[in-house]
Amino acid sequence: MGGEWRGMKRSLLLALLLVSPVFADPALEGRVRGIVAQMTVAEKFRMLGGHDDFWSYGVARLGVPDLKMSDGPMGVHDYGLVTAYPAPIALAASWNVELARRVGDSLGQDARALGVGVLLAPGMNLYRAPMNGRNFEYLGEDPFLAGRLAVGLIQGIQGRGVMATAKHFIANNSEYGRMDHSSDLDERTMRELYLPAFEMCVKEGHVAAVMDAYNLVNGVYATEHAALNVDILQKEWLFDGILMSDWGATHDGLAAARGGLDLEMPSAQFMSPAVLQAGLNSGKLDMATIDDKVTRIVRKTLEFPAPPQALPLYSQLGRQVALEAARDGMVLLKNHGGLLPLQRARHRRVVVLGPDAHPAVPSGGGSAQTESFVKVSLLEGISNVAGASVQVLSPRETVDVDRVVEGSRFRTAAGAPGLDAEYWSNESLSGEPALKRVESISALRFGEGSYAATGPADHFSARWTGTFTPEQDDDYRFYTSADDGVRLWVNDQPVVENWKPQSDTLSSGVVRLEAGKPARIRLEYFENVGGASLRFGVAGGQNALSEWTREQVRTADAVVICAGFSPSSESEGLDRSFGLPPGQDALIREVAELNPRTVVAVTAGGNVDMEPWIDRVAAVVHCWYPGQEGGTAFGQLLWGDRTPSGKLPASFERRWKDNPTHDHYYPAVEGSKKVSYDEGLFLGYRGYDQSKIKPRFPFGFGLSYTRFEYSGLKATATGATFRIRNVGKRRGAEVAQLYVSDGHSALPRPVKELKGFARVELAPGESREVRVPLNLRSFSYWDPARHGWRMDPGQFTLLVGSSSADIRLRSVVEVAAGSPQGSP
Ligand code: BGC
Repeated sequence: MGGEWRGMKRSLLLALLLVSPVFADPALEGRVRGIVAQMTVAEKFRMLGGHDDFWSYGVARLGVPDLKMSDGPMGVHDYGLVTAYPAPIALAASWNVELARRVGDSLGQDARALGVGVLLAPGMNLYRAPMNGRNFEYLGEDPFLAGRLAVGLIQGIQGRGVMATAKHFIANNSEYGRMDHSSDLDERTMRELYLPAFEMCVKEGHVAAVMDAYNLVNGVYATEHAALNVDILQKEWLFDGILMSDWGATHDGLAAARGGLDLEMPSAQFMSPAVLQAGLNSGKLDMATIDDKVTRIVRKTLEFPAPPQALPLYSQLGRQVALEAARDGMVLLKNHGGLLPLQRARHRRVVVLGPDAHPAVPSGGGSAQTESFVKVSLLEGISNVAGASVQVLSPRETVDVDRVVEGSRFRTAAGAPGLDAEYWSNESLSGEPALKRVESISALRFGEGSYAATGPADHFSARWTGTFTPEQDDDYRFYTSADDGVRLWVNDQPVVENWKPQSDTLSSGVVRLEAGKPARIRLEYFENVGGASLRFGVAGGQNALSEWTREQVRTADAVVICAGFSPSSESEGLDRSFGLPPGQDALIREVAELNPRTVVAVTAGGNVDMEPWIDRVAAVVHCWYPGQEGGTAFGQLLWGDRTPSGKLPASFERRWKDNPTHDHYYPAVEGSKKVSYDEGLFLGYRGYDQSKIKPRFPFGFGLSYTRFEYSGLKATATGATFRIRNVGKRRGAEVAQLYVSDGHSALPRPVKELKGFARVELAPGESREVRVPLNLRSFSYWDPARHGWRMDPGQFTLLVGSSSADIRLRSVVEVAAGSPQGSP
């Protein structure tokens, strides 16, 4: 009886909690209700849609200001130059929650300096595949790691009185098809993988705003998804803030209003006053629903008044935080024979080359791309940190799209240099061309003097024809980078076929050609709306480097190749290739053949195909997008002024086909617009543990210049305590990871799941006891039959490791029955 009553009391309490959010400040709540009571219906309607791209309406007569927003997550960049922090994926690779809080604090200060009250960050969509063009903006493959880092960022941002926005709710895991594809996933996968980071942001971070994703989830647009927005976010997690749409993610105003959306951004195109009024008239919508939305917006506006503050936008403090974050995030993946750190006395002449060497590439592209007052390129950082005695050469002669083309031989039908160009003022190359002329290949980059400048800016098409004569027999890779449609034929064979409206997308194809024999070229392009851009290139048939450069490389004490992507090849709006951009694999191989002391620095949001070169180079450092101070951070690690401590926040596959999402990343049926997350729970390391395929570099992996020993694990259901000792010769930091393994669950579970971690910095010989807390959620899983968290009492194994594949300590703990509520 007593037990039953206690159970009833618990459910009663839970029910009460579910219907009435607990507000921190009753006085504030009273003011909010007072304001809402005085608002006219028109004022309420107006408040539910944005204006001028990054603003939402307040109600001035009642003292509620408009909200000014800006994108993050790498910088508060919508109003001019600021500090560019490293990409969030780099922050995830630092596993440093305290640092995330400081980056958040810095972002918050920048926002206040600009009068920005809402920062559109952090993002926390999970990393499923390396191609996702926005992986760099997110926090890796594990929900617990992502959640911890996101909470750190939010606490930093909101500690400065600026609202943070957890985005994109939920399952926006590819850029391909993000506007109209449905991410289809089962309840348990959603609960255990795709929701927990958001749950932590709400329950622990008290995040002020959440942004609904563009995509559909199980067939329903995220902006209309009442089961996610109302039942889970608002009622179950007690989110009392603003749920806004992504920019243009609303499609049906009434469905969105009923589905939990509070604010349509960037304007009330669908959730408009007329639609809302019609909803009220028809009885499909009630005033209480409108009032709830208005109440949320007014509540957060008052809670975060965020008036502009006289703070420096360009500050050494900001630079310092950006530097630390870049440094802590870089991951040393390979260090054959201990080539790194380089030594100033031995490595006196270092050659630096590659497309990401200079100028700096601080971020990927899209809404996160941040322009900063200063930015230090990898080349500058290597040189600045090296000091005067080290000669750093930077042969500019590296493979890049345009240079390759300039060195190639194209001819028109009449034999003139260049290609015959024809332009049409329609998108389908139909009718008589509006313009015909001979163009050099470089003119294909639309701009001044091009058709886009003189003809119609939108809705045009073009064709270029002529020949390309190679200098030797070889496989030639032709590539195009276009916004919008492009197709290419070489000798009448289709090589690129990418004929659709899209943002700048790189495509390529290989053709075998014979020396001296002209190959027929036909290149077609159409422009829909927005930017017109086309680049066209061909690589192969020659060494990437000149004889002079080859000689510099051959005789250097070390070579650093800065390879990777850039804002135009890795960006919001498009998925990238797994392989490095064209020409780079060949460049790395050519250099590695000439000099065994070759280091590859990768700039990318995730893994790249290293198969073509990894066994040939001595060292590899993953730099992610390291923000404005990336060069200095890299230089300090390269020259050993600091010790690398970053660890991978995602498993790095050997081959794309090894990735657990390989068969499920894009629609299985072409044109179906449905992405079935059929790998379910077995994403990332959970998948590799299950398939027993070894990734090239496991989740949580990263090398150091020193070594750490683990000992003395004492574990209980509430946490683990153990000791870490630096047994090497350098100061350094170690990230210890705590995984839970459940051998007796009623439903199948992954072999192990990350439930805690700790980062400790130690001097040589120093040791420290580390405590990692656990709670009942750490041992539980989602039971779809009961629609609830479930923990099967009994024995669990705790695994403490230096990576997910390098477990150093283990211990069995007994966990007694209990209710796994609370935050993960
Ligand atoms: C992105 C959001 C961003 C918004 C505003 C959208 O395209 O998906 O992450 O906050 O634009 O720039």
